[in-house]
Amino acid sequence: MEHSHAASRAADADVDKLAQDMTERFRQVLSTKRMTELTSRSVHSRSSSPAPRDYGTPQPPPVQNAPPSYSSLRNIPLIPQAPADPRSIRFKNMLTSLSSLPLRWENPGLLDEALRVVPLEQIYNEAEEESQILQAEAESLGAGKKAAWGYQDCVVRALLRWFKRSFFTWVNNPPCHMCYSPTLAVGMSPPLPDEQARGANQVELYKCSDPRCGQYERFPRYNDAFVLLQTRKGRCGEWANCFSMLCRAVGSRVRWVWNAEDHVWTEVYSLHRKRWVHVDACEEAWDKPKLYTEGWGKKLSYCIAFSVDGAMDVTRRYVRTPPKYAQERNRAPEAVLLHIMNEIRATRRANMAKQEKFRLEGEDMREGTELRGYVISSIAHEVARISADDIVSGRFNHPRTDPDAPKALEGRTSGNSAWIRARGEGGRGTPNQQDPHNQHPR
Ligand SMILES: [Zn+2]
Repeated sequence: MEHSHAASRAADADVDKLAQDMTERFRQVLSTKRMTELTSRSVHSRSSSPAPRDYGTPQPPPVQNAPPSYSSLRNIPLIPQAPADPRSIRFKNMLTSLSSLPLRWENPGLLDEALRVVPLEQIYNEAEEESQILQAEAESLGAGKKAAWGYQDCVVRALLRWFKRSFFTWVNNPPCHMCYSPTLAVGMSPPLPDEQARGANQVELYKCSDPRCGQYERFPRYNDAFVLLQTRKGRCGEWANCFSMLCRAVGSRVRWVWNAEDHVWTEVYSLHRKRWVHVDACEEAWDKPKLYTEGWGKKLSYCIAFSVDGAMDVTRRYVRTPPKYAQERNRAPEAVLLHIMNEIRATRRANMAKQEKFRLEGEDMREGTELRGYVISSIAHEVARISADDIVSGRFNHPRTDPDAPKALEGRTSGNSAWIRARGEGGRGTPNQQDPHNQHPR
């Protein structure tokens, strides 16, 4: 007995040692692979890239009347046009500044450091298991069937579960650090030196609701993903920033998607599906692009994706039924937005090898086709809902209700109910009070 106990203890220790070795080895492989990718990239893109030159192409006359609302979502070809009016220039400056966020993750040393907080072994085991299940499912459907997701997709899916369930915390009003009572917002406060040193330019101030305590609680809004690994809390801005960085750290290509209606999320590139996949860390949502419209009942105007190699207007991925869910796009004429996207892309790719640029252009074109496809299928869908009887009786302006529409639509899950209602993100059946002038901080 004694002997076998000792033997099994020794075996356990061996297994532990082996697991540790494997994790360490894995970390190294990943780190080397990423380092190679990053250094080859940073040689080019780190140096301050010159603004793309305008070769004096004749500009079309300014558009007097900006195209109405969501016409851009209708696949009308446009000639890019440089921003000229103050409003368009403001939009351009804002997008250009937002576009630099993903560049801040491209730091091999910090990405390696970041992986230390991630339970890599657990994540890789889960991913391995899930991808085997998906593979088996595909095989059971017949020869030549492809698994729904590849291994790297499963890694990000496991990362997403861990991030939402065990790592990051949502903050509305932070609780009092003295007595844990709820707090009330009292405004903004200038950052303290240590907050500023860690990159917080804005600090929200809260006061404890218990008058016997009356302590103030500070909520610095950090926008450095690596600082967020320590603070581990925030609203969608912090969630998307930190989670996207971690996707990068595990080796995925990643995008940070800005939405004009006060939300941000992530997209990762699936090599297996050869397309960008929507990922929302706050909601633990994977590939649910209709979440915000059909789920939360929001109208969206702009969803712009930024990555280390460019920018793309991906609104059509998220707004599949423009008549219902498109918010007016009035920050700049569409031709100007196209120009801004091209310019950001050109800046990011300025120093890339020709071959790499060519590959990315091919990818942009494929994505363009994908996005146009959503509009076409939405129109086809609307048409299919009109019955012959309706046409005869002239009722075709009111198509029948859609039997295939998602039934119970999901409202937002991150944030408390009052906050969600105030933002108009409660989904169907919740009174929505979407007010563009009363926007809460991301
Ligand atoms: Zn208190």
